[in-house]
Amino acid sequence: MTKKILVGTHNKGKYQEISSLISKKYKKISPTSLNIRSPKETGNTFISNAKLKANFFSKYVDYPVISDDSGLCIKSLRNNPGVYSARLAKKHGSFFKAMKHLLKRMKNKKKRDAYFVCCLALKIKKKLFVVEGRVYGSISKKILGKNGFGFDPIFIPKSYKITFGQMLKSKKIKMDHRFIAFRKLKKRFKTL
Ligand code: IMP
Repeated sequence: MTKKILVGTHNKGKYQEISSLISKKYKKISPTSLNIRSPKETGNTFISNAKLKANFFSKYVDYPVISDDSGLCIKSLRNNPGVYSARLAKKHGSFFKAMKHLLKRMKNKKKRDAYFVCCLALKIKKKLFVVEGRVYGSISKKILGKNGFGFDPIFIPKSYKITFGQMLKSKKIKMDHRFIAFRKLKKRFKTL
């Protein structure tokens, strides 16, 4: 019998990335296909929101659930938008507008260090495991590239000269915060 796992996110970009990391042995199920909405992200840390999502989705299924909470932290903006990354895009109406807003706030900043963070929560047999992954880099001066999703077009990973938005998706997903977090989970759950 094929094993199932619920990939607990409505964000298409994240769903694709997380699904591609999990072994082909698992049939990936989306909350959309089960008509389940996402819970309200009431936590103020990545860990609490990742846990909240995994606990919420696991009420609907009796197989493993994996959820993430992630965001972009810009050092000179006191690590904002951080846990509010998705909400910033919602507030501005689109990711493009949110990126423009961030670039404007960064206009005179010399220090452009930033990182993406991802907390992955795995709920399996009523137990919850959480790991964190980060990818460090900097904020570009312009919106560059059309690949990826969210804030990818303004993030240049360390040792590169192009943004995630300019990078091949196949390359980005093997080096980003989600990949790093997943690697930690996989150490413990080798079948994933
Ligand atoms: P949430 O985890 O659902 O609160 O959403 C996190 C938000 O952070 C996403 O909607 C994206 O805007 C942003 N984000 C997280 N990971 C990535 C990524 O890999 N690339 C670009 N943006 C990301």
